[in-house]
Amino acid sequence: MPSKLEALPTHTRPRIRKAVCIVSGGLDSICTAAYLGEEGYSVYMLTFAYGQRARYEIQAAKRFARILKIEDHRIVDISFMKEIYGRTNVLTDTKQVLPQHFDYSIVVPLRNAVFITIASAWAMSIGAELVAYGAHTGDERYPDCRVSFIKSITNTLNLGESDGIRSGTRQKITVWSPAVNGIDKSDLLRKGYKHLGDRIFDTWSCYSNGLREKGKNPIQCGRCESCINRKIAISNAGVEDKTRYANEPKYNPT
Ligand SMILES: [Zn+2]
Repeated sequence: MPSKLEALPTHTRPRIRKAVCIVSGGLDSICTAAYLGEEGYSVYMLTFAYGQRARYEIQAAKRFARILKIEDHRIVDISFMKEIYGRTNVLTDTKQVLPQHFDYSIVVPLRNAVFITIASAWAMSIGAELVAYGAHTGDERYPDCRVSFIKSITNTLNLGESDGIRSGTRQKITVWSPAVNGIDKSDLLRKGYKHLGDRIFDTWSCYSNGLREKGKNPIQCGRCESCINRKIAISNAGVEDKTRYANEPKYNPT
């Protein structure tokens, strides 16, 4: 049976804007997906199993795909990347200690470039105009979260399909993140909180796979850099943090 939209003559149908949103299951990406939905996009979610130690974030992503009534949610298994990354970073190499402050060992080589390229291939396959991920203005220390990188990869990926775009076979894509619009982590959180309320505390920020209690969902460590950033952003947003942490995150309020 055709949907209400499909039943309308083509020229009177409202144009549905599709967005592919890369979602880890963390605070930033879930808020980005919620924000795009609020902005009228039909959101397609993409989550990567890239060999990360925080495997639980994938469960969080699945839960939010249901909550946000996402059009389609794909979990893409590229866990072979763990072998390729070797000892380069602490997120896939479990033999290294997770830092409490930013350290280049947190940067996974070209992670967003790999994710965005796969997401853009999906976007061009389903006619989505936007490829989004959750980088905000506070992510400046990650080269592949910077606006200059976003503009450059948008150009590169469209160039890779330039003939298809010119002939109308492919839809041109725009890579976007909250950083492009000058949105910081707390602003983004407020946008997500407006839509999700306290369910936002079910997002998974922790770089570790959390502390497990038998028969219960794991809880976030409260010690790693990402747990601390989460705590600070929630505090700066003026929202009471109802996240359960194994250790209360320690930071100096600004
Ligand atoms: Zn943590």
